[in-house]
Amino acid sequence: MKLNLALALLGIISLSIIAGSSGRVLAERADSVAALPTPKAASAKRNLSFIDTWDGAKINKTDAIWKTELTELEFYVLRKQGTQQAYTGELTDNKAEGTYYCNACGLAVFSSKHKYDSETGWPSFYQPIDKKHVGEMEDKSIPSDVRTEVHCNRCGGHLGHVFDDGPEPTGLRYCINSVSLKFRPSK
Ligand SMILES: [Zn+2]
Repeated sequence: MKLNLALALLGIISLSIIAGSSGRVLAERADSVAALPTPKAASAKRNLSFIDTWDGAKINKTDAIWKTELTELEFYVLRKQGTQQAYTGELTDNKAEGTYYCNACGLAVFSSKHKYDSETGWPSFYQPIDKKHVGEMEDKSIPSDVRTEVHCNRCGGHLGHVFDDGPEPTGLRYCINSVSLKFRPSK
């Protein structure tokens, strides 16, 4: 009986030692996480330089750097070829006149002049603002449905896809994620 009591006490003491030390580790981790800029704060602070006339120089950043500059959703779509849920983007129904820039690097990619309502739930354009600014790549991520991916030619940021069921004069539909775009109204 005495031995059992002693063992139980020993158990309680060692448990509290473990709890104490792991508590300190957690606190230290929380401090180091707080010291890094959170993605949301970084994005809110990020001042994009808008580029209308591009010299053709590309930019190349690691995922680790992009993670400090983009929100989680921006990173997922722009850097990991993700797709925003239909009808959730802020710019789908935007009818204001202006320019749409790459939300990662600020290169002009689309114009309100070429935007139309495709009723798909994503901002849609029948052509890019400048063909040199928007690149294309074959996307085989869905083997039964090979699509053409479109991206910003300056930073490689994923914008969306282009389909051939668009309106005149091009017959193309650039189906773009809102989160990949930064809209600036014309003055
Ligand atoms: Zn870009």
